[in-house]
Amino acid sequence: MVDGESGSLRSLRELNRGRVIDVLRGRGTASRAEIARATGLSRSTVSTIVSSLIEAGLVSEHEDGTGVAHGRHGGRPPVLLSLDKSAGVALGVDFGHTHLRVAVSDLSHEVLAQASRDLDVDHSAAEGLDSAAKLVDQVLKRAGVGRKRVLGVGMGLPGPINRATGTVGDSSILPGWVGVDAAAEMSKRLQMPVHVENDANLGALAEFVWGSGKGFSDLIYIKLSSGVGAGMLLGGRLYHGTGGTAGEIGHTVVNPSGAICRCGSRGCLETVASARAIAEVLGDSRGEPVSITQLLELARDGDAAAVRLIGEAGREIGVAVANLCNVINPDRVIVGGDMSAAGDLITEPILESIRRYAILSAAEQVSVVPGTLGERAELLGALALVLQPPERFLVSPPRWREVAAA
Ligand SMILES: [Zn+2]
Repeated sequence: MVDGESGSLRSLRELNRGRVIDVLRGRGTASRAEIARATGLSRSTVSTIVSSLIEAGLVSEHEDGTGVAHGRHGGRPPVLLSLDKSAGVALGVDFGHTHLRVAVSDLSHEVLAQASRDLDVDHSAAEGLDSAAKLVDQVLKRAGVGRKRVLGVGMGLPGPINRATGTVGDSSILPGWVGVDAAAEMSKRLQMPVHVENDANLGALAEFVWGSGKGFSDLIYIKLSSGVGAGMLLGGRLYHGTGGTAGEIGHTVVNPSGAICRCGSRGCLETVASARAIAEVLGDSRGEPVSITQLLELARDGDAAAVRLIGEAGREIGVAVANLCNVINPDRVIVGGDMSAAGDLITEPILESIRRYAILSAAEQVSVVPGTLGERAELLGALALVLQPPERFLVSPPRWREVAAA
């Protein structure tokens, strides 16, 4: 029998050990000094914990010194630590409107294998989930990883997820999935824990963890692909709203007498400013269909009509974002999805509208940049959902008071 005191000491040691593991799981790699800063534990406590984790085979050391602090004082680069590859893997599944992507990563955030296929996700939930389960088997086999080592599955869907019921909401945005408990259905197929999140939210999360949102606690990620959606990180946490529909910026009305939208409303931003809508207008003017890829190629080559249409769409999007800036006062707007490849051609007109229509103080504080993760952002976000669970999305981790006895 342990007495009360040694029992509480033991649980404190376990708690501190858990904090060190959390930092490594969230960051992939970190030096002892970085872990000390992130946890608020002393260097010596961190060293003791790390030594015991290395001894237990849970943590490995890397001498390659690719860390940020490397060589600043001309000294030896810091030894980086990561959770051992044998400690488990994360799976990510990303459903887009026209594709399905699956990836497996280890706990040092290295993607071990990935696969994708074309898929009309609007068609049927059961078909999509079956295809995803098959792709999961493929990537695990390709990575040489057994199913028992999977710690969890993050899954993204291009529709609102009701956080209370776990079901996909809104009949018009993702028909074929309405009322489906996607996490439970996928979990049944894979026999693994599955977490579901809206795809734009995952894009926001991935850019925050690894991309152009690093260090920005109030950011808007706008996904501009066949649709227009947004993920919002407020105070370092994803914002969902009561039914999971927060961030549906694409259904902001910009022209009440405009075209009918797939959501049933009229003149939504998406009907004039999605990559698909722009490509359609360009196609009409050229007398032949233009794909989103061709639209981006034409713009890159300086085609006047393509550049003009992207600029006009950017200004329309910018008006909606300007309104959002007045309401939530973000420090960064990230353009993701297919249109992120247009770079300045899309970010400049968005910023121009923000400067014109947002109140001065909100406009002054915000920067608009393309995402750096490209079309993989949502898939990486799905992995981040497992590697860095939502309850820990804090820009500055809480400072724990270290107890001397630890
Ligand atoms: Zn709409």
